[in-house]
Amino acid sequence: MTGPGQPMLLDWRASLHFRRDTPCVLCGNPTPLRSHAGKAAHKVCAEAWNAKHPGETRFVSDAQPRRKRDDDHA
Ligand SMILES: [Zn+2]
Repeated sequence: MTGPGQPMLLDWRASLHFRRDTPCVLCGNPTPLRSHAGKAAHKVCAEAWNAKHPGETRFVSDAQPRRKRDDDHA
């Protein structure tokens, strides 16, 4: 269930989000996860940060693959 006031869950499943363990910029514990901007951060830490900073875009989800609807002219 999501709605107003619910923390937005990040979608960081793409392989580009996984690197060597590096200290999380938020909690300092090692994590292989990287944000879009290449910052080491646990997903839960980033989600908590987002919840505390609504409207900021330090941590964003991967763009959802969109089905092409505009290919009539292909
Ligand atoms: Zn963390």
